[in-house]
Amino acid sequence: MSSRTLNLDDRLIDYLRSVSVKDTPILAKLRAETAKQKMAVMQISPEQGQFMALLVELMGARRTIEIGTFTGYSALVVAMALPAQGRVVACDVSEEWTSIGRRHWAEAGVAHKIDLRLGPAAKTLDAMIEAGESALYDFAFIDANKEDYDAYYERCLVLLRQGGIVAIDNVLWSGKVADDKVHDKDTDAIRALNAKIATDARVTSCMLPIGDGLTLCRKR
Ligand code: CA
Repeated sequence: MSSRTLNLDDRLIDYLRSVSVKDTPILAKLRAETAKQKMAVMQISPEQGQFMALLVELMGARRTIEIGTFTGYSALVVAMALPAQGRVVACDVSEEWTSIGRRHWAEAGVAHKIDLRLGPAAKTLDAMIEAGESALYDFAFIDANKEDYDAYYERCLVLLRQGGIVAIDNVLWSGKVADDKVHDKDTDAIRALNAKIATDARVTSCMLPIGDGLTLCRKR
């Protein structure tokens, strides 16, 4: 039974969380507040957050980018894992959603580590490249509108240093990527990027069946 990934039913995911997720009251509070939002499914799972925090620690990351901040959970877990001088450049278009994050970042004492840039992320990333920040970043997390995933991926590869990692969320898209009958802009955009990364010689990559699917790409 080790040749494929387990199906995680509710009982097993509860068990996994009970023995592995190191929660804090602020993380739990932010998840609870986000769960009340109508777009609550956009939040990453606690075990995915913990995995990203571990990854950032393992890499000794300092400069990180997030594309798609929503209510700020992933920015919070990454900021908490970063050293004192670490930074998250957090890109989002919503003042309303990110204001929820801002309150919790302040409460957790990490607001100074998170540089929120409101506006279209591709423009923000272009401005960073224009400002000479290419190859300066250690880690990037892409979790925003799917149609622009490829644009975000290309810009992140420019901004990452050699050995830096870009993590791309929702690559399994609730299974729709594997359903030949589904053709909408989002699903097709994710499929196209998945196929591109599979043969992209610029990166070493691995697709993980965590959450809704997470691909890690290490820039060569
Ligand atoms: Ca997501």
